[in-house]
Amino acid sequence: MKLADARAALREARHVAVLTGAGVSAESGIPTFRDAQTGHWARFRPEDLASPGAYFRDPALVWEWYAGRYRDVTRAQPNGGHALLTQLEREKGDGFFLATQNVDGLHTRAGSGAAGGQLVELHGNLTTARCEVCDWTADLPAPDHFTPPPSCPDCGGRMRPNVVWFGEDLPETALAAAATAFAGADVALIIGTSGVVYPAAGLAAEALRRGAVAIEVNPVETNISWQMTFAVRDVASRGLAALLGQEP
Ligand code: NAD
Ligand code: ZN
Repeated sequence: MKLADARAALREARHVAVLTGAGVSAESGIPTFRDAQTGHWARFRPEDLASPGAYFRDPALVWEWYAGRYRDVTRAQPNGGHALLTQLEREKGDGFFLATQNVDGLHTRAGSGAAGGQLVELHGNLTTARCEVCDWTADLPAPDHFTPPPSCPDCGGRMRPNVVWFGEDLPETALAAAATAFAGADVALIIGTSGVVYPAAGLAAEALRRGAVAIEVNPVETNISWQMTFAVRDVASRGLAALLGQEP
């Protein structure tokens, strides 16, 4: 397949399912997990901070790390890649589905999920917290007024970061919705993800099995590149602009 064919497939598709990963936020200055481990935090592996065991042993430490990442994502802005996905959603309406592995909330801030289609955050959102007692979910206070841990507005219980940690299950309804969307997609777009974290990485395979065209946007080859119908080897903003027939 050539770029012109991929473009035509995307233009003509009634159902488009998109999976995004940390690479989509790279141009917003949000580092991937490993790049984020600088300074004081370089002593810790992400697995030692983003896990139920870590939180059980030292909740204050885990919250301190998340509060720092929360500050960083609040200062960051959605980039051209996020904006083009919102534009594509406007064009496809309820035929558009976006599943993200990112927890930075940038898709929402760029308007995804509010332009006629659907957005699901498979790994949660670090700008929110969830009550450990009653499961209530709430936005975190503005970073300048935030001292962790937050307490539940409903029952007063301690709240935890509202993200899916290593070893935890993905939210069932979000995952089921994503599986349905990918199974029914004419085109699947896989953007800025290394394809190593399952079950998210298996979504493209499901779309392909049902005859969809799968297109990857990533500057480098990934674990799932071999499955793709076509790949754009570029960063998310330029790669999407090429696929949508636009200059970035
Ligand atoms: P990953 O770090 O494993 O892979 C990132 C991919 O993005 C790589 O394949 C890389 O080549 C590609 N990439 C880098 N710059 C890019 C760009 N400008 N445009 C397009 N692609 C680019 O990330 P993952 O696949 O999302 O999985 C890692 C896990 O870490 C996920 O579970 C995710 O929840 C979590 N995470 C989230 C964030 C975030 O919310 N922004 C940041 C770091 C990690
Ligand atoms: Zn509560």
